[in-house]
Amino acid sequence: MSGHSALRAEAVVDLDALRHNVALLAERAKVPVMAVVKADGYGHGAVQIAKAALEAGATWLGSCSAAEAVDLRKAGIEAPILAWLYAAGEDLSDAVAAGVDLGVSSLDELRMAEGAPIHLKIDTGLNRNGCSAEQWPELVRAARDHDVRAIWSHLASADEPGNPSVDRQAERFEWAYEVARAEGLEPMRHLANSAATLTRPDLAYDMVRVGIAMYGLNPVPRHEDLRPVMTFRSSVAGVKRIHAGEGVSYGHTWIAERDTTLALVPVGYADGVPRGLSGRLEVFVAGQRQPVAGRVCMDQIVVDCGDDKVSPGDEVILFGPGDRGEPTAREWADKLGTIDYEIVTNMYRPRVRRRYLGAR
Ligand SMILES: *Cc1c(COP(=O)(O)O)cnc(C)c1O
Repeated sequence: MSGHSALRAEAVVDLDALRHNVALLAERAKVPVMAVVKADGYGHGAVQIAKAALEAGATWLGSCSAAEAVDLRKAGIEAPILAWLYAAGEDLSDAVAAGVDLGVSSLDELRMAEGAPIHLKIDTGLNRNGCSAEQWPELVRAARDHDVRAIWSHLASADEPGNPSVDRQAERFEWAYEVARAEGLEPMRHLANSAATLTRPDLAYDMVRVGIAMYGLNPVPRHEDLRPVMTFRSSVAGVKRIHAGEGVSYGHTWIAERDTTLALVPVGYADGVPRGLSGRLEVFVAGQRQPVAGRVCMDQIVVDCGDDKVSPGDEVILFGPGDRGEPTAREWADKLGTIDYEIVTNMYRPRVRRRYLGAR
């Protein structure tokens, strides 16, 4: 084998871009930043992202499950970590032993989190987890003899600046805080996600929890100086010339209108290229945007390069920051009717190798 492995599917993760974004968000927030690294760091790699975020000034980490938090501890990360979503009756003792802070939304979870510093979660209107207003006074009272570090909540529509639900949720959050104060608690407060951090500095309270913006994807309809962190790359595996009238890929949904050069690229839906983009996917081959011909297969796509010169080994960018005109994760999301969160998080898969730029 040669010293470098050939490029099939690679997510390049630019840690300098990540640090830039964290510094920008910390500057906006003016309060401590929790870097949210759930779902393996939105598909970017939780441990590497956590370390780079802490280098850039984040002081807390957020994970979804207790197991994700324990994995960060196993990687030697000592910063405070909050985990918040459990299965019914889940055993949280590993997380407690690892010194993980736990979100608590109910009396059951208060028992499950015994021994951990806790963050009591009030449901202010998202109606997912979080304690209802009816049950809040009872939960707060029961938590008085625990180490209650914070009260917190999560916003439903902060990505739509001006949406009245944001103020309504903030009012309920204030009420929940007053109830906690009246019971003698002195918790810190955190409410804002990325979108609120960018648009509602008045809701930063004592900490913000940032995810998507840290990865350089902008959740609000307004220019922000964020740099996308992930680039998804491959390379041309083979080239062939076909005649007009030939069909390409399963079902021959695409027929060559002229003689053309096809480039085979060894990535497919098993590598995170959504099959739903069949017929409307474009990729960047050797510095030029080119359409993908026909269906996205499990392991490969075929690019219609016309009469452009293309050779085996040429770089293919599936999505990137967009600076050079290459497609972005946002462009994929828009075509699919989804959000860019789903596109990058979907890159969390064994066949896609990760390469980190700017690791310290
Ligand atoms: C995922 C998540 C965040 C981060 O949200 P972004 O929109 O990615 O900034 C913050 N808080 C909670 C509770 C979350 O689940």
